[in-house]
Amino acid sequence: MEYNNNNQHRLRVNAMKLSMVVPCYNEEENIRSFQDAAIRTFDGCDYNFEIIFIDDGSTDRTLSVLKSVYAEQKCPVKVISFSRNFGKEAGLYAGLQRASGEYIALIDADLQQRPEIVRDMVEILETKPEYDIVAAYQDRRGEGSILKFLKKSFYKLSNKLMDITMQADASDFRTFRKCVAESILSLGEYHRFSKGIFAWIGYNTCYIPYTACERAAGTTKWNFWKLMNYAIDGIIGFSTKPLRIATFSGMLTAFAALLYLIVVILQKLITGIDIPGYATIIVLILFLGGMQLMCIGIIGEYTGRAFEQSKHRPIYITREILDYEA
Ligand code: UDP
Ligand code: MG
Repeated sequence: MEYNNNNQHRLRVNAMKLSMVVPCYNEEENIRSFQDAAIRTFDGCDYNFEIIFIDDGSTDRTLSVLKSVYAEQKCPVKVISFSRNFGKEAGLYAGLQRASGEYIALIDADLQQRPEIVRDMVEILETKPEYDIVAAYQDRRGEGSILKFLKKSFYKLSNKLMDITMQADASDFRTFRKCVAESILSLGEYHRFSKGIFAWIGYNTCYIPYTACERAAGTTKWNFWKLMNYAIDGIIGFSTKPLRIATFSGMLTAFAALLYLIVVILQKLITGIDIPGYATIIVLILFLGGMQLMCIGIIGEYTGRAFEQSKHRPIYITREILDYEA
């Protein structure tokens, strides 16, 4: 874009180039290291950047560390503090709302994702205007084989079930243009599933591989059940195919029952003997009971979400905002 007016030129110089959105939940030991790593990384770059930290209701000293980091302003820093833990997805949403950069990066606070990669992502966005998003996917995962298998199965299953296609192993570690941020913000759903949201909004995405480092300090907030719930949230949030499956399995069972009825009548007519059916009845009762409960569960998942959404509750509540621009 060409600027020939002095005022506009100043605007361009001062305009924020990159906003890094960093959700933090009990990351007291990582915040300073993260900021230092970011400053070191972008030291030689000729553009400015800001860091938006979201304190997601941490129970350790995260907020007080963030406050001192804000007071120092070694680089432009904004801090959003939630009234309680609302989850990473809510944190990302809040960060996007406050981001003023031309490019916005989503990155974790634990230094598993290096700021150097963000620099490369910005480089790609600068040089390749055909891309709007640069997303990093993990090329080598340092996870156990069971977890690896479960994650792979999740991508396979959900890509079959969902109306969108998700790139396997691509997380929310990505950098994108302002228009993408606006599109994400326009999806105001309460149950947020960022992998699905990214696939749903579209845009041209460039995928680059990266290797996740070990956590600098602290522990991961994920466990098996959390991942499981997250996966179900994703499928329910982005597809109504499970409802269709419930309908079809009902029809299929009814059809099978009809066939069996014919078999029973024929047996009776041909052989004339009473048909002992104790075991069959028990099995069928259990099978049908299980099927019905499962289908009610599936319907319940959707109604529950509709109920949650109909309350129009905010995605998060802030307790405090420290913004150098305000
Ligand atoms: N996080 C958050 N709220 C939560 C859980 C996690 O803001 O309720 C943040 C956390 O501080 C970190 C990022 O989300 O910056 C990723 O979390 P974590 O490292 O536990 O996930 P993993 O890297 O193991 O997938
Ligand atoms: Mg992590």
